[in-house]
Amino acid sequence: MKVLILEHSRLFQKMLTELLVELDCEVDCVQSGAEGKQKLEQENYNLILAGQHIFDESGMDFAEYCNSKRGTCPIILLTSEPNETLLKNARNAGITEIYPKSNFTYLRESLRYYIEGETDINIEGGRIIYVEDSPSIAHVVIKYLRKINLDVSHFTSAESALKSILSEDYDLVITDVMLDGSMSGTSLVRMIRAHNSSISEIPILAMTGHDDPQRRIELYHAGINDYVTKPPVEEELASRVNNLITNKRLLDQVREQQKTLYKMAMNDQLTGCHNRHSLAEYAPKYIHEAVKYRSPLSMLILDLDFFKHINDEHGHTVGDEVLSAIGERLMAACKQGGFVARIGGEEFAIILPHYSTSAAIGKAEEIRAMIEACKPAGLVVTASIGVASLSEKHHEDFDLLYKDADHAVYESKEAGRNRVTFFDDKTIASAV
Ligand code: GH3
Ligand code: MG
Ligand code: MG
Ligand code: MG
Repeated sequence: MKVLILEHSRLFQKMLTELLVELDCEVDCVQSGAEGKQKLEQENYNLILAGQHIFDESGMDFAEYCNSKRGTCPIILLTSEPNETLLKNARNAGITEIYPKSNFTYLRESLRYYIEGETDINIEGGRIIYVEDSPSIAHVVIKYLRKINLDVSHFTSAESALKSILSEDYDLVITDVMLDGSMSGTSLVRMIRAHNSSISEIPILAMTGHDDPQRRIELYHAGINDYVTKPPVEEELASRVNNLITNKRLLDQVREQQKTLYKMAMNDQLTGCHNRHSLAEYAPKYIHEAVKYRSPLSMLILDLDFFKHINDEHGHTVGDEVLSAIGERLMAACKQGGFVARIGGEEFAIILPHYSTSAAIGKAEEIRAMIEACKPAGLVVTASIGVASLSEKHHEDFDLLYKDADHAVYESKEAGRNRVTFFDDKTIASAV
């Protein structure tokens, strides 16, 4: 940041310069308004610090001159006697802020805050879609946005912009209101907000030439997040863009974390299958759908046989490896619409929507054979499976269906393991 200091006291100039250099500023010092004006002719400054009393005129007169000349550079007046009249006159002269000279510690902290706050507008990239039909405004705005490290795609009509928004990933939409084509910027905002996807949540900054409150309200009702008048003041545009992009990033982060937490809460970490909570949440939904559309539904409960022996003989780590491999294979076997949950140590539940009793028994036998053949960690592993199908007697009650399937597994174990049993105690298939 480049700062011009106008101050008659050499000592105060030195103190300010040291402070500003420490804040990474480039500093020029002058003692009079005439010298200051000369400097302004030659250089561009980001900030002017003017003492209230300088050699040839007052800081206030100098501020008025600056404003008539170069609009947007902020001017801070340094004064030893701040009072209400001075404050009012300073505002009229276009002075941005007044800092007291008498308390240097306070002055130092205020300047630090001001300057660090200014340089804070340091956007870490971002993709912007910018809709503007005026080539001259677009030229200036695009140049500025690119200067502050943003990737800008420019469109002159809402129709073409919308097409791009639907196919590309943007962090922010900046749109004018009157555009080429038959759609206005306001309609574009409405279309984005009405979209039934995450696109509807993209931040939108409106930019229009008319600072008409009615139009602003209309734009807010349509769903914009913020508004800026044309031609935009660079720093203001940067601040608003920065706020919107930062908020979007934070929201994206929270959503990602929510997703991760949900996944952690609903998935079994060892096998990647759903867990008991997930089964309790989804099973009633599957059953409800089946009843609503009069479609069959079956469920399997699968318990690995003599699993304790595997742990005892080969260690818990090998046991885990086996569980993980079986879980993976069960999910692969049911990837066409089946729901696989690990509901206990070596016990899995599988919901098979659209499976009649005979289809479910066939599937269970296929899974039983697959487990027997797959040899996870080089070991022969078998499973006992119980099958139950949804019928009228269950009254959409998942717990009743579960009990039937559980009963059938028990029968499989009793009958010698490594087999499939349908819940009415009849052994359907056996590998023994
Ligand atoms: P059965 O054929 O009657 O089902 O015999 P089993 O040995 O499989 O049944 P039991 O219920 O007696 O033992 C289950 C074993 O599963 C006991 C426990 O050590 C093991 N187990 C449970 N959870 C895990 C786990 O996360 N990892 C490992 N490695 N073993 C587990
Ligand atoms: Mg326009
Ligand atoms: Mg077991
Ligand atoms: Mg068990």
